[in-house]
Amino acid sequence: MSYCGDAIDDARGKHLSPIDPIKLSQDLIRCPSITPQNAGALEVLEHALTSLGFACERFDFEGICNLYAKKGSGSPHLCFAGHTDVVPLGDAALWTHPPFQGDIHDGQLWGRGAADMKCAIAAFVSALAQHTIFQGTVSLLITGDEEGEALHGTQRVLPLLAGRGDIPDLCLIGEPTCDLKIGDTLKIGRRGSITGKLTCYGKQGHIAYPQNTDNPIPRMIACLKTLYSHSFDKGTDLFEPTRFEVTSVDVGNTASNIIPHKIEARFGIRLNTLQKTEEICQLLRTICSNEGGDHDLTLTTHGNAFLTEDREKVSLIQKAVQTVTGSLPALNTTGGTTDGRFINAYCPVVECGMTEETMHQVDEHVSLEDIRKLTDIYAAILKNFFDKGHA
Ligand SMILES: [Zn+2]
Repeated sequence: MSYCGDAIDDARGKHLSPIDPIKLSQDLIRCPSITPQNAGALEVLEHALTSLGFACERFDFEGICNLYAKKGSGSPHLCFAGHTDVVPLGDAALWTHPPFQGDIHDGQLWGRGAADMKCAIAAFVSALAQHTIFQGTVSLLITGDEEGEALHGTQRVLPLLAGRGDIPDLCLIGEPTCDLKIGDTLKIGRRGSITGKLTCYGKQGHIAYPQNTDNPIPRMIACLKTLYSHSFDKGTDLFEPTRFEVTSVDVGNTASNIIPHKIEARFGIRLNTLQKTEEICQLLRTICSNEGGDHDLTLTTHGNAFLTEDREKVSLIQKAVQTVTGSLPALNTTGGTTDGRFINAYCPVVECGMTEETMHQVDEHVSLEDIRKLTDIYAAILKNFFDKGHA
């Protein structure tokens, strides 16, 4: 495949990119890069970026592939961050369009990763090809480990880049952010996350002789009731209240006359900027110690909440989007965690990508019109950022 070529103008004088964002999206979707597989996805990107004069560098750890591509030097420095790995298919038989074929049908591009977030990467690369002259640095930090544990991706590359002074002034993340229309919403922060497993132990026995048993189920119910009714906070202007949610409660008891010896529950907490993961973990430990009896509690933290405070840069992105869509995008912090939780420790982060509707679903798809519009939005962001020299 070749994406090389000179930028051309169409009959109406509109500047066209030599890289077609739809064709590049298809090529990326055709790589079955379910985490931790790369399946050629980063090579497709490297090929396109090299043709635009980017220097590409790979940071591969523990079988996970990561790409850092850079063009230009000095300030201002804009970095686009994203991931080429995708979530699994779910029930493969339910897909009506093959997930890794990149079919175009009814004005939509179908395939796993279309919304989250291969088309956004393709749109940014296509926008770069339109914006060939700029003063400063553009880079792309693309990981193959965002949808999984995210241990060997962005989190590991950033300190290496920081060690050599390669930290941008602003990071634009291409995760899906839009609600109904492309460009209607930016994310300027994300909630933090904790997941956990609580196991309560007792003594198995006959239901008719409870005096000889110790049923762990009431203790589990007491723990979950206290956690569900706990009011962590009321949220903030930009964040929903911190919430506890149970995802599974399992006894695995097939008999109706046996008191089981253990019960397990899995849960998650999404927290806002009023909370810290370590303090919530301590609260969970205290509640489970008070009410859980003999128990094990395993907690995994996935980062604190963050909010981008640099409103000047947020406004720069908002205004760029407005030049394409005609309206100023809303700002929010909803949704799952992203690599923004790692990047915000180094520089301001704004997320702007596709619509969220079909991400992670069977028959994930985006419209061709949205891919083109997102390309225009990214081109406008590049123009605003470099014209104003935003260091
Ligand atoms: Zn994503």
